[in-house]
Amino acid sequence: MAKKTKKGKKAELLEKREWAMVEGILEGSPDGIGVVVVRLDCGCRKMAAVSKEGEPASKIIMYRDNAESICDKCKDDQGDYMRIVTQFIHWKDPEPNQEKKNSISLKVMGATETVTH
Ligand SMILES: [Zn+2]
Repeated sequence: MAKKTKKGKKAELLEKREWAMVEGILEGSPDGIGVVVVRLDCGCRKMAAVSKEGEPASKIIMYRDNAESICDKCKDDQGDYMRIVTQFIHWKDPEPNQEKKNSISLKVMGATETVTH
């Protein structure tokens, strides 16, 4: 029987491919203190760096795993928020304090982090 390994580290909320994207975005966004990661019901992803003021610090990047482009649905509605499955902010090290995180989350996503892990 295969044993499930359980790791409780927050960073592992990110999937491997998402990691690569997030790191690329942070590298290209010196003002970014984190990256908003949005997973859509169709499997596409939407990401953008956010500044410490809670403003966009990069352009919004949309992509789809193993595909040349995003799906037709997303081309149509640009990843409408109605179709969001999960969204959270991956913070760059060192992470801002909780208060700051909450206020940025609120500004960017209209809610505090909803991750329940
Ligand atoms: Zn899509």
